[in-house]
Amino acid sequence: MNTNFDVIIIGAGPGGIFAAYELMKLKPELSVAVFESGNPLEKRKCPIDGDKIKSCINCPTCSIMSGFGGAGAFSDGKYNITNAFGGTLYEHVGRDAATDLMKYVDNINMTHGGEGTKLYTTSGSEFKKKCIQSRLTLLDASVRHLGTDKNYVVLENIYKEMKDKVQFFFRTPVEKVRKLDDGYEVDYKDGTASCKYCVISVGRSGSKWMKTVCDDLQIPTKSNRVDLGVRVELPAVVFEDITNALYEGKIVYQTQKFEDNVRTFCMNPHGAVVNENTNGIITVNGHSYEDPSLQTENTNFALLVSKHFSEPFKDSNGYGESIARLSNMLGGGVIVQRFGDLERGRRSTVKRIEEGTVRPTLKATPGDLSLVLPKRILDGIIEMIYALDKIAPGTANDDTLLYGVEVKFYNMEVAVDEKLETIYPDLFCIGDGSGVTHSLSHASASGVHVAREIAKRLG
Ligand SMILES: Cc1cc2nc3c(=O)[nH]c(=O)nc-3n(C[C@H](O)[C@H](O)[C@H](O)COP(=O)(O)OP(=O)(O)OC[C@H]3O[C@@H](n4cnc5c(N)ncnc54)[C@H](O)[C@@H]3O)c2cc1C
Repeated sequence: MNTNFDVIIIGAGPGGIFAAYELMKLKPELSVAVFESGNPLEKRKCPIDGDKIKSCINCPTCSIMSGFGGAGAFSDGKYNITNAFGGTLYEHVGRDAATDLMKYVDNINMTHGGEGTKLYTTSGSEFKKKCIQSRLTLLDASVRHLGTDKNYVVLENIYKEMKDKVQFFFRTPVEKVRKLDDGYEVDYKDGTASCKYCVISVGRSGSKWMKTVCDDLQIPTKSNRVDLGVRVELPAVVFEDITNALYEGKIVYQTQKFEDNVRTFCMNPHGAVVNENTNGIITVNGHSYEDPSLQTENTNFALLVSKHFSEPFKDSNGYGESIARLSNMLGGGVIVQRFGDLERGRRSTVKRIEEGTVRPTLKATPGDLSLVLPKRILDGIIEMIYALDKIAPGTANDDTLLYGVEVKFYNMEVAVDEKLETIYPDLFCIGDGSGVTHSLSHASASGVHVAREIAKRLG
């Protein structure tokens, strides 16, 4: 096999895919290789079936997080076109350019199977006023909701278009990146490949590996944030006014007690709560489907509090992991609690959950989240539930379910400039692995940005 390429992309998540796609379009003559630790899309299958295999068996590569499509492949496919959240790409490329890149990505998704899906927008929404009256802020965004099923089709179609023009190496994790006099060399299990331009896009699952690359090459990094909280599940009708109008309302609340910001995250109308495995720790997440036959009668969303640490503490992700481990220790996985039980200072039991009116969509262990989450975080979440109750009456009902814990780990931030280039010429770091992005739209947009920069350099 030829192991000398013009461009090597490490990671086939949205960042890597869109970098490869744009290069294929702009410079079809280039030899582009994508190295991916996980499987091709059609071979990605999580063995948990809820029947024979109920919990994570720690596969060699996690099909939820790795493989063609990256961590986003089985996600809800919500592409938020906004600079208000989802990453800080705009700080590098400018606000208008970031928005244009996200719109360009949306266009590609629409021409690859996403056509017909709805684009929601907060602009002119009556909820803005309602939110302000309850100390809540509704963030500005346009949200394209592909849904888990359509998201998969889009990925399938993009892969079909690329597979004969870009060389994909699946189940091939890159072990090392070396700087050459002119270009880069990467080591993988069975050999070495070289290139002039190298784009690293390894996402969250590659964050530990990314740290070793930065240490080896002495690329500066910083890391100080983790988001912690719960996933709320309630009857879809309670949030229907908001979700029908906005699909996903990103709402921020400033607590009266500590002036902490609590925010909604990843809202799934008629969706299901799911387990997520991060480095062997089981946390909670949510999905929803465009196909009505797969929809549930519940809506779920996360309520998260950001924890920023200052010196000397540096391991914000370690902090989040310890709290998630605590819930795993007490509940054997995710814990579920009725809001009414939490407020009364008692654990939920199987009986109390069964007697409630909200049918849980995830089989979790009834327990007590106050034994897991720090008081300050839990107090903030409770305050926000009451604030949300004012714009969506019923949110603070006793039977509302809270699953814990939901943790949003942030990658360390890799020092990159406005071209998303590291301190080394022609070595780029994009997507969630760079710490610049935390979302499908921003990660994809960062891939397009870097591909255009490489194409420009080639003239
Ligand atoms: C369950 C779930 C639901 C989500 N829902 C949404 C949503 O609705 N909207 C949204 O905006 N975001 C969502 N996200 C977040 C979103 O998926 C990520 O922000 C996005 O996938 C980041 O893209 P990326 O390309 O930077 O990284 P990733 O998607 O993580 O892709 C990185 C790829 O690199 C590979 N890799 C890692 N290390 C190596 C190595 N050493 N060598 C080779 N390959 C390597 C990995 O296997 C992976 O496939 C969700 C995430 C999850 C887990």
